[in-house]
Amino acid sequence: MAKRYQVIIIGGGPVGVGLAVNLGLRGISVALVERRVGLSNIPKGQNLSPRTLEHFYFWGCVDQLRAERLMPRPYPISGITAYGSLMSDYWFAPPQREIVRPYYFQDVERLPQYLSEKVLRARMETLPNVEARFGWRALSLEQDDKGVRLAISEEGGSGRETLEGDYLVGCDGARSQTREQIGIDRGGADYDQLMVLAVFRSRELHEGLKRFPGRSTYNVLRPEYKGYWQFFGRIDVGEGWFFHAPVPAGTTTDNYDFHGLIQNVAGFPFKAEFDHVGFWDLRVAVAERYQLGRVFIAGDAAHSHPPYGGFGLNNGLEDIVNLGWKLEAEIKGWGSDKLLQSYSEERHPIFRETGEDFIAGRIEWDRQFLERYNPERNRAEFERAWAERKEGISDRLMTYEPNYEGSPVIAGPPGGKTTAHGEHMYKARAGHHLAPQPLSSGKNVFEELGQGFALLAFGASDAEIGAFTDAARSLNLPLKVIRDTQSGGREAYEAKLTLVRPDQYVVWAGDNGPADAKTLLSKAVGR
Ligand SMILES: Cc1cc2nc3c(=O)[nH]c(=O)nc-3n(C[C@H](O)[C@H](O)[C@H](O)COP(=O)(O)OP(=O)(O)OC[C@H]3O[C@@H](n4cnc5c(N)ncnc54)[C@H](O)[C@@H]3O)c2cc1C
Repeated sequence: MAKRYQVIIIGGGPVGVGLAVNLGLRGISVALVERRVGLSNIPKGQNLSPRTLEHFYFWGCVDQLRAERLMPRPYPISGITAYGSLMSDYWFAPPQREIVRPYYFQDVERLPQYLSEKVLRARMETLPNVEARFGWRALSLEQDDKGVRLAISEEGGSGRETLEGDYLVGCDGARSQTREQIGIDRGGADYDQLMVLAVFRSRELHEGLKRFPGRSTYNVLRPEYKGYWQFFGRIDVGEGWFFHAPVPAGTTTDNYDFHGLIQNVAGFPFKAEFDHVGFWDLRVAVAERYQLGRVFIAGDAAHSHPPYGGFGLNNGLEDIVNLGWKLEAEIKGWGSDKLLQSYSEERHPIFRETGEDFIAGRIEWDRQFLERYNPERNRAEFERAWAERKEGISDRLMTYEPNYEGSPVIAGPPGGKTTAHGEHMYKARAGHHLAPQPLSSGKNVFEELGQGFALLAFGASDAEIGAFTDAARSLNLPLKVIRDTQSGGREAYEAKLTLVRPDQYVVWAGDNGPADAKTLLSKAVGR
C-alpha cells in the first residue's frame, strides 16, 4: 500500500526544503522528493532580504545561516554601478536593501545559495515528521477530490514507489514538471538573449577594484547592451567571483573568450581561473496561477526571471511562508478551500508586478537611460542624469512593498489592491507586513509572535480582547494575545488592536474593537 502524507513536496531546492521546514514545525507530515543528493556549487541566490531572514528566524535557524557567511563582517552587501567599465570615471555606490531595514526584524545577509540550502537541509533533518527522499525523481502525478498520488523512481537505481498525499506542492524549479503536468501556462517578457554565468577565482580582480569602497557586487552598464547587466559578484573577499552578462546567440563553452570578456568589462587585464561556465535565456516567466485543485506550485516553478535585483529566492520563500500556514489551517480543520485559494490570489499579482515593473521595468529604465544619455554625445547632460540615477534607485527600493490589500482574506481598505508597489511604514495597515517594535519587556514584538494568529493589544480593554479570544475559541483557531501599553514605540502602529496572521501580515488594525470579532476572524481564514 502507498504511504500517505499530508503534504508531498517535489523539489528539494531552497524553496522546497524551506516549505518542508515550515510545515514540519507546524506538525504536518511531509514527504519531500529531490533528485539530487548533493548540493550544486553555483554561488547564486546570495542577496537575502531582511524579510527572508525573518523566515529563517521563525524556522529557528537564523544564527546557523549567519554563521555560514563567507564575507567578512561587516562588509557592505550593496554594490557599485559603473558606466562603460569598472575603470570608468562614472560610477556610484547606490543604496540597497539596507535602507528598508528599520521595517523588518532582521538584517540583510549575503551568502551563496548552497550554504543557505545546507542550513535548511540540516534544520529539516531535525523534524521527525518530514521524510526527505534525496536521490529520487518525481515521475507523474494524479489528483482527485480525495488526494494526490505521485509516482517516484530512484535515480540510478531500481526503486519505484507511489506516494499518496492530501496536497502536493511543486517546488521543482523553472522547468517545473509539476506545472506542466497540471497544465498551467506562463506569460512574461522573453528577450531572446543568451546570458553567460561564469564562476572564477581572481585575486588580481580584487586588487584592481581597490579604487572603490568595499562592495559585494559591480554592475557595468553599456549602451550596446540595451539595459542588460554585465555583473560581477563576490563570493568571498579576495578571490571568489561570479559573473553574468549577455553573450551572442550560439555561444558555447568552447567558442568564446570568456576571460577576454571579463577583462573587457573590468577595464584592465587580470589573471583568472574558471571553475564553471553555464548559460541561461533572459526571460521573465510567470505562471498564470499557482494552484489547480490539490496541487500548488511555488518558487521558480511559479516565476523565473533574470537575477536582477535578487527577487527570485526571496520571493520563492515568501510564497511558501504564505502557503505553509494555509495548508496547516486546512489540514487541521480551521481553514477552508477559500483560504487555500488565497495563496494564488495573493502571490500571483505580486510576482506579476515584480516581473513587469521591477525586473523588466528596470531593464527598460536602464535601456532608455543608455539610449538617451551618452557622455560622448553630451557630457554635461550625461553627468547630470548619471547623478540623478542614484535617487531613482532608492525610490525603487522604498516602493517595493508587496502587500495584499485586495485579498479576500484581509480586511483591506475599500478598493484595496494586491500589489508589489507600496510604501514602507511603521503604521499597522491591513494587508501589509507588520513592522517590528519593542515591548516593555525589552523583547521585540516579533519575538512574541508564534506560529498562529496574534492579537497585539496595546492599551486595549479586556472586553475588546475578550471578543477576539472568544471568537478564536469558537472557530478553533490558534490566537495568541500580546498585551502592552500603547507607548514606548508601539504608538507607531497607530492602533490599539492589530490582528496579525501567521505569516506576519496584518489582517486588520483599529483603535476600537471591530463590529464583530467572529466575522473578522472568519474572513481571515476564508470561512
Ligand atoms: C546567477 C544567479 C544569481 C541569483 N541571485 C539571486 C539573489 O541574489 N537573490 C535571490 O532571491 N535569488 C537569486 N537568484 C534566483 C535563485 O537562485 C532562485 O530563485 C532559486 O534557486 C529558486 O529556488 P527553487 O527551490 O524554487 O528552485 P531550484 O533551486 O531550481 O530547485 C528546484 C529543485 O527541484 C528539483 N527537481 C526538479 N524536477 C524534479 C523532479 N522531477 N523530481 C525531483 N526533484 C526535481 C531540482 O533538482 C532542484 O533541486 C539567482 C539566480 C541566478 C542564476
